[in-house]
Amino acid sequence: MTILNGSCLCGKVKIQVPDEFEYMGNCHCSECRKFTGSDYSSVGGISSSKFSFSSGEEYVTTYQKSAETELAFCKRCGSSLYSRKITGGKHNIRLGILDSVPTQKPDFHIFVGSKAPWYEINDDLKQFENGPVKP
Ligand SMILES: [Zn+2]
Ligand SMILES: [Zn+2]
Repeated sequence: MTILNGSCLCGKVKIQVPDEFEYMGNCHCSECRKFTGSDYSSVGGISSSKFSFSSGEEYVTTYQKSAETELAFCKRCGSSLYSRKITGGKHNIRLGILDSVPTQKPDFHIFVGSKAPWYEINDDLKQFENGPVKP
């Protein structure tokens, strides 16, 4: 099985996941915009049990966004790394941190009802007013 590597901007935090994301999509919610500083966030979801740090776990800080969701970022460089669904048992990895190329590509948009007004979706991927499509 192929292993994908990921890292933060400063390189202290390194992560690994198998190349078997359960879903991959773009989230346009305002909270992802705030957290990532981007128009939207591309994420791939995988069971938390399949996620691991290769190094630098001590550089990771988390922000408890809600009872169910914890956001993780590098405390040295600020790179957003993933959101963790606590009872759902999933890690939604920010695809921007990947150094390897996953087999899948994002195939849906969620929370398009609250997308950035200046951003236009110019592809034919499925769109959902809210979300997520899957837990
Ligand atoms: Zn960093
Ligand atoms: Zn979002």
